[in-house]
Amino acid sequence: MECVFCRILKGELPKHEVAGRERCVAFLDINPATRGHTLVVPKRHVERLSELSEDEAAEVLRLAGEVAEACVSRLGAAGVNFWINQGKVAGQVVPHLHLHVVPRYAEGEIRVEMHQKQAEQGELERVAQELRKGLE
Ligand code: AMP
Ligand code: ZN
Repeated sequence: MECVFCRILKGELPKHEVAGRERCVAFLDINPATRGHTLVVPKRHVERLSELSEDEAAEVLRLAGEVAEACVSRLGAAGVNFWINQGKVAGQVVPHLHLHVVPRYAEGEIRVEMHQKQAEQGELERVAQELRKGLE
């Protein structure tokens, strides 16, 4: 079965578009976490952030910032969260990369719990070393 966002982009399924650019589109999330919850979606089907070209990445990020400004100026948002779920374990349900723009009106509307704790001795350096190898 074809990707739901590809179908939306082809016009086979409806969307509430808020902006369109050369390489990406912004439309409202059908299940908004808050009023104005928008998805910024590259027109080309990719699953992961690293698959975007520089131009696509720049446009997606730029449009997300512009949507956020509109949420503040037009909907009265006091702040905005931006996030990407990448991979099933991270909560990605639609396997077409998308950036959530979630306007925030009051504290406590949404809770993202990180359960952070202080790193053990030596752990941060071991992790940094490993990641540097992947980024050479
Ligand atoms: P994610 O969990 O990051 O993959 O998020 C997928 C998002 O897509 C969810 O927030 C859904 O509410 C949203 N969604 C799914 N189908 C549609 C649709 N047809 N139109 C707009 N948003 C959708
Ligand atoms: Zn797709």
